[in-house]
Parts: sequence; structure tokens; C-alpha cells
Amino acid sequence: LRPVRIAVHLHPYGEGRKLMLSRDVTAVEQADTMRRDFVANVSHEIRTPLTVLAGFVETLQSIDLPQDERQRYLQMMAQQAQRMQSLVNDLLTLSRLEGSPPPGAAEWSAVGSLLAQCEYDARSLAKAMGKRLEITFAPPPAVEVSGSPTELLSALSNLVSNAVRYTPSGGEVVVAARRLDDGRLELAVRDTGPGIAPEHIPRLTERFYRVDRSRSRETGGTGLGLAIVKHVVQRHGAELRIDSAVGAGSTFAIVFPAARLRPSANFAQPAAT
Ligand code: ADP
Repeated sequence: LRPVRIAVHLHPYGEGRKLMLSRDVTAVEQADTMRRDFVANVSHEIRTPLTVLAGFVETLQSIDLPQDERQRYLQMMAQQAQRMQSLVNDLLTLSRLEGSPPPGAAEWSAVGSLLAQCEYDARSLAKAMGKRLEITFAPPPAVEVSGSPTELLSALSNLVSNAVRYTPSGGEVVVAARRLDDGRLELAVRDTGPGIAPEHIPRLTERFYRVDRSRSRETGGTGLGLAIVKHVVQRHGAELRIDSAVGAGSTFAIVFPAARLRPSANFAQPAAT
């Protein structure tokens, strides 16, 4: 049983009579609340870096700082601007995903080339964050997935960048694609990071849901990555599996139905970097 909201209207109906109309408005009210929460979240997410940025501008305007101090301030300002850029980019991606019909099956992406593009980004991100991680991309099967290559890459990149961002130095990230016995394809991203408590797992794909707000921000997170992944996965008829436990790392896997796959005859394995 769940609570419902009923709107009741009384309309004049002939001599001294009234017609009572009732309507279940639960879904409408829920959508309204979600929209309001979303706008409040977005405003808050933009206001924080904007306040910091404005503070730095004011300092630079009012104090004559030595050159190296000035550079440090400018660098911090660039970081805040970048944070807002990532947020706006993710918001636009989400709104495109929510407002467009699912991609047709006309385009195909070789799993190997999706992984190769992610591998480069994963290594660059780890380097930029100054992290020592053992990053492994297992040799992919010669398979192509139908759908939008841009969307598929964005989903996989989000999972891989989360693994890199949340796993501390000395840890391991393994990305592997394999055919399951029933013909489906699993793209799995496993890490030896902090892991996630079971009560958080069902909520991770909600927009702006974070287990640890400050850690997400510190590592440049927008809180929208897994919401984007969820949409892409749904639009491709796939399934998102999250297997994690505190202290035991996490595995995020996308499982594609066999109907979305075809063998890729002429895929050449990219050279190791
Ligand atoms: P964010 O930008 O905050 O990373 P996401 O939507 O990508 O947003 O992820 C939501 C939350 O899920 C994160 O804030 C983090 O708490 C948790 N999370 C995601 N991936 C991992 C991971 N590999 N290890 C631990 N926690 C993770």
C-alpha cells in the first residue's frame, strides 16, 4: 500500500445539484516535487563554485599579491570554472538523453575501440590526479554493439572515471568485456576502492545522489555520472549491475542483450600504450 493524493472538484450540475469529480494526482505531485528538488540541487551546485570564484576575484581586485600568489589564485579560479563547466556539460547530456527517442540500431561500435578510448582517458585521469593505480584493460572479444557510439562511450567512461577517482593510490582498476554463457555481453569495471554500503546502492543512479559529498567534489564529481549511465543503459535495452561492499571494492557492469550484438570481423587490437 502507498499513500495517494486525490484532487476533488465540485461542479454545479443542474438545479441545486453538484457533480463530484475526483482524480488521482499522486504522480503529478511527485513529478512536481522531483522537478523542484532538481532545480534546487542544480542551483546549489552552481552557487557553491560561483561563490568561491567571486571571492577570489574580489581578493585579486583588492589586494596587490605577489606574482606566485596571484598564479595560485588564478589556478583555483580555473578549477572552479571547470567544475561549473563539467556540471553544465553533464546537465546537457542528461537533458538530451531524457528528451530524445532511443537510438536506432543502425550504428555499431566495436567493443575493442570503446575500451581503447576509455583506456587512454583512464590513464590520463590517474596521472592528472597524481595516483599510482594498476589499470588493466583485458583483451576484448571481437564483438560490436548496436546503438549510439557517443552514448556508449560516455556511459563506459563514467564508470571507468569513477573507478579511478574513488580508488586510492596503490589500488587496482580492471576493465573487462566478456560474452556470458547465454550470449549476452558484460562490460565490467572493477576497482579496489572503498566500496559502497548496501543501503546506498539502489539510490546511486539518482541525480545528485552521493555517498560522500566532499569526496565526490574533491575528485571533480558532478553527482550526475551514474544518472547518465542509467539512461544510456536503458536506452540500449541493457542492464546495469552494481556489486559492492564496504572495504571490498566495487564492480559496475553493463550487460547488453545478445540481440544488440554482432561479431566484428576486422577489428584490429589497438597497440598497448
Ligand atoms: P559523482 O560525480 O559524485 O561521482 P556519480 O553519479 O558518478 O557521481 O556517482 C554517485 C556516487 O556513487 C558517488 O558520489 C560515490 O559516492 C558513489 N560511487 C560511484 N562510483 C563509485 C566507486 N567506483 N567506488 C565507490 N563509490 C562510488
